[in-house]
Amino acid sequence: MVSKSTLPTKQCAACLRPFTWRRAWARSWPEVRYCSDACRSGRRARAIARLSSGQPAPAQGRLHER
Ligand SMILES: [Zn+2]
Repeated sequence: MVSKSTLPTKQCAACLRPFTWRRAWARSWPEVRYCSDACRSGRRARAIARLSSGQPAPAQGRLHER
């Protein structure tokens, strides 16, 4: 008797949370290390900070040192 709900699980390398196999990962499961794109592209906090900082500020009067 094998339950169909016994899917493989892994621990996300970014948020350290366990996540379950998904069909989308059927081909690349051995390479999957992160539970989501957010974790894959870095830390979620960083992604948010990146969005909020938005465009690079004009560096006027800041680069005169050296
Ligand atoms: Zn994660």
